[in-house]
Amino acid sequence: MALLVVGITIALAACNRNDRRTPPEPDLAGSLTVRFLDVGQGDAVLIRSPEGKTLLVDGGRSTTRMAEHMRKYQIDKIDLMVATHADADHIAGLVEAAGAKPTYFINNGLAGTTQTWERLVSALQSAGTTFQKANNQVFNLGSAKVRIIAPPAGMGDDQNDNSVGVRVDFGEFHALLTGDSEKPETTAWLNQNRPEIEGPVQVYKSIHHGAANGDHQAWLTRVRAGNVVISVGENTYGHPTATALNLYKTNGIKVYRTDQQGTVTFTGKADGTYKVNTER
Ligand SMILES: [Zn+2]
Repeated sequence: MALLVVGITIALAACNRNDRRTPPEPDLAGSLTVRFLDVGQGDAVLIRSPEGKTLLVDGGRSTTRMAEHMRKYQIDKIDLMVATHADADHIAGLVEAAGAKPTYFINNGLAGTTQTWERLVSALQSAGTTFQKANNQVFNLGSAKVRIIAPPAGMGDDQNDNSVGVRVDFGEFHALLTGDSEKPETTAWLNQNRPEIEGPVQVYKSIHHGAANGDHQAWLTRVRAGNVVISVGENTYGHPTATALNLYKTNGIKVYRTDQQGTVTFTGKADGTYKVNTER
């Protein structure tokens, strides 16, 4: 009986919509994919809208690794590229990804001091990419919204604490990535009561590869992540740390690790439901 009632309600809703002859809504029936590419020690997150629009947040430290991912996932056009900050484990692979002619490139406005940074700038210039400094812009990635979270004022010239944050919303499906932000930056964002950091979010990237100076309780209380992906490879920093792993455990956040599971992919629907696939 209950099923029958539901069926009738849906039928009526459909009739009403036809009768009013409203213009077609954006197609929210597709899926948004958020792919944490296995790039070893570093970050690279590939996001695709249901319409096939592409956002790449960071590129890992290896151009060959990025070239493999570009072939495998057919990255031939990038609509928006974000460098959270200019450290090599985030931007070296972007030099290769510049071959997909990004329409826009966003960074924190602090020029890197390395040859890798210079190579990236020149590759993007050759690609005809438009450069923008992070300024809380909102981009339409097909039917998904990309909200850029600018670093707060007063972070000096530290690259980690000037990491650019990125929130992606597709209906009720949400992802949040904040580079290698350390506690001063996330605390400043908390104090600003920024709406972009409000959870719950289904998909969340572990800050700074699971370092002890990244995620902390006050921040995780606000973000309310369902799943966290630690983008990490063999390293001498002790990433991910027991501090970070314990925090995720006590907060009931499901942990994925690219060093153990390879590339981790979330496929989300606009109603907030999602599936997770891991390479291993
Ligand atoms: Zn890093």
